[in-house]
Amino acid sequence: MKYKELNLRELREEADLDFAHFTFEPNQCSCCYGPKDLPARYWRNGIIPKDNDNFTYILFKNANNGSGSVTKEDEIQNYTCVMHRFRDDDQRDKTCRLLAEQLTDDYVVAVPCNSGYTIIIFKKAQFKEEKKKINNRFHYVHVEDIQGHASLYRMEINMKDRP
Ligand SMILES: [Zn+2]
Repeated sequence: MKYKELNLRELREEADLDFAHFTFEPNQCSCCYGPKDLPARYWRNGIIPKDNDNFTYILFKNANNGSGSVTKEDEIQNYTCVMHRFRDDDQRDKTCRLLAEQLTDDYVVAVPCNSGYTIIIFKKAQFKEEKKKINNRFHYVHVEDIQGHASLYRMEINMKDRP
């Protein structure tokens, strides 16, 4: 599935986010740049907030310090990370659900257990393997935190259950 098949503008409105986009610009790294460095059209009402840093957003971590920026013609890869800031857990869950609904059935959305972890999009075929790996990766899931595990995999279960 390609990025152009996502409708992040619609997702942004439905989830009541201030910003949503699937890539950084070429030559931007995710450590030094953020939503405010991206074009106004990805923002609610086309306006980049000047002072307020309290905005809510999702931004796919396709950046220069990772595997590079992408275009709408690119395929959504296995293990695609999505940076975020949410108002609360409800907004997080709604955003992840809407994202999962826009993705085809061969993807899984892993919901982060807290704000320290990114959302991760997996290809379902590779998810079983990846699941073993992320269990050992502190960055994505708190290994000692059983609650965190439950939270990370909750969306997968919900997706199967949905009508
Ligand atoms: Zn940087």
